[in-house]
Amino acid sequence: MRVPAYPWRVSIPSLDDLHAMGAVQQPTYVDQSARDAAVQTLRKMPPLVFAGECDALRGRLADVAQGKAFLLQGGDCAETFEGVTAENVRNKLRVLLSMAVVLTYAASVPVVKVGRLAGQYAKPRSSDTETRDGVTLPAYRGDAVNGFDFTPEARAHDPHRLVDVYNASAATLNLARAFTTGGYADLRQMHAWNTDFVKNSPVGERYERIGADIDRALAFMDAIGVDPDEFHTVDFFSSHEALILEYEHALTRIDSRTQLPYDVSSHFVWIGERTRQLDGAHVELLSRIANPIGVKLGPTSTADDAIALYEKLNPERTPGKVTFITRFGAGKIREGLPNLVEKVTAAGIEVAWVCDPMHGNTFETSNGYKTREFDDVIDEVRGFFEVHRSLGTWPGGVHVELTGDDVTECVGGGAKLSAEDLTHRYETLCDPRLNRAQSLELAFLVAEMLSG
Ligand code: PEP
Ligand code: MN
Repeated sequence: MRVPAYPWRVSIPSLDDLHAMGAVQQPTYVDQSARDAAVQTLRKMPPLVFAGECDALRGRLADVAQGKAFLLQGGDCAETFEGVTAENVRNKLRVLLSMAVVLTYAASVPVVKVGRLAGQYAKPRSSDTETRDGVTLPAYRGDAVNGFDFTPEARAHDPHRLVDVYNASAATLNLARAFTTGGYADLRQMHAWNTDFVKNSPVGERYERIGADIDRALAFMDAIGVDPDEFHTVDFFSSHEALILEYEHALTRIDSRTQLPYDVSSHFVWIGERTRQLDGAHVELLSRIANPIGVKLGPTSTADDAIALYEKLNPERTPGKVTFITRFGAGKIREGLPNLVEKVTAAGIEVAWVCDPMHGNTFETSNGYKTREFDDVIDEVRGFFEVHRSLGTWPGGVHVELTGDDVTECVGGGAKLSAEDLTHRYETLCDPRLNRAQSLELAFLVAEMLSG
């Protein structure tokens, strides 16, 4: 048997050990035998992803860290069980693939495509409870934990939902794999992805022009007899926030090939802004796995925090292992990010730096909707590029909340959605997402920043 490269890692702390570390943002299960039964069921389930795929993504993220590729990571704030339909999954893939084509073509840079998809069912919350009309109930923590309906029954924490998460993720990933390798992602299809949409939107027309250019290039390649696999399929990876310890622990397995632990619930998992305590359970568990992992860093993170987190999560400095996802807010990024990037770089640490321009830019409209202003989202990405350009570091990617549907959740964008428009199609159960047109607009603007 091959000797493991890092034998100390092979011992994974038990679930009880992790809870004993005082894990935050966890469900409170009343029925311990139901919780144990759900964990036992999950432990027997086959992996959703393979270790070799996680290694491949880690390699691609090493390219991002070295300035040779750009990461596009996106999807819902919170997936729902009800949203596991062919149409919904196809629409999300379609917008991500379209954005990737725009970025690849307009900026001539390889794009690593990762969905916030097939596992993004658990949400950290700033408050444990929610009060409506004098009634207080547990907050909605994502379909992994409880239901959205404002009733005591729906809001009770139900461990069986973790098994439903596995099944919903398996169905979603199966479809995503079929779409990305079974012909739908063929570059010759890129017109078909958006035919229903190009006619009535300026960004759709702009997309169609790129499509015409690519068609000419493909026809030329065809004529000279070149037809690589890359024209027909795309590499697509899954990701979610690793939040619920019962779920992530049950899906952490020793890979027979490398003898290393992998969290086989997803190719990439990240640690959220609220669970990144250095001595916390989430950092502990993710420090043991070989998957590429992300850490969200908000405006209160110091460079020392980031360096200490990196040393704990990747002491052997494996390239591509750690991605820092900064989410400062448009108003803070230009003043907060330089110090972080400078000191981390000076410590000899090479990470992929990725911008989440969503979570620092949320506000509530006077008519009561949680929203984001498209211009703030763009301004944060612009600030992110400015900071990295001035320090000579690589702005490695964007992490966005989006949907492939024509929802009205974020204000602004080409269609100039107003607070009043949010009443039309506000469907998210958690944070507001860019709709299909806003997502493509963002892709064009980021492509300009990349090539500018
Ligand atoms: C999220 O990505 O939906 C999220 C909760 O982010 P953060 O941990 O950065 O607040
Ligand atoms: Mn969110």
